[in-house]
Amino acid sequence: MKAELTRRSETKRISHVGIAVTDLEKAIADFSSLVEPSEIERISLESEKVRIAMLKLGDSEIELLSPIENSGPIARFLEKRGEGIHHIAVKVDDVSQAIENAKNRGFQLLDSTPRSAARGAQAAFVHPKSAHGVLLEFYNQ
Ligand code: ZN
Repeated sequence: MKAELTRRSETKRISHVGIAVTDLEKAIADFSSLVEPSEIERISLESEKVRIAMLKLGDSEIELLSPIENSGPIARFLEKRGEGIHHIAVKVDDVSQAIENAKNRGFQLLDSTPRSAARGAQAAFVHPKSAHGVLLEFYNQ
C-alpha cells in the first residue's frame, strides 16, 4: 500500500499527442484554427529527421511531426499509414525509472536508456505490441 502511494505521487499527465503530418505549415494553420493553442513552438530534430511544432493547450500539447527528408521514422510512418496519431506521451518525473518499471513488468520497449528529445527533454518509447497498438512515450516535460 505504501509503495503504491509513493508511485502515485509522481506527477503524471498526458504530456502531448504526436500527430504525423505531410505539410507542417498547413497542419499548424489547420490545428491553430481548430483548437486555438496559446503558444506555437517550432523545433527541428535532425537526429530523428523531423520538424516539429508544439501547440500548447493548457498543461498538454499537440506535437505535429513532419519529415525533413523522405527518410526517418516519420517519413516511414506516413508512407505506411498516412497522416494521423503517431504516439501518446505521458509525462513522468524520471524516464529511466519508467523504463525500469515497464521492463520489470514484462513490457517491450524501443529504448533501453532515455533518448534525447526536443527542448532537452528525455524520452523512451514502449513498443506498440506491448501497449495495445499504441506507441506510448515516457517523457519528462
Ligand atoms: Zn512525442
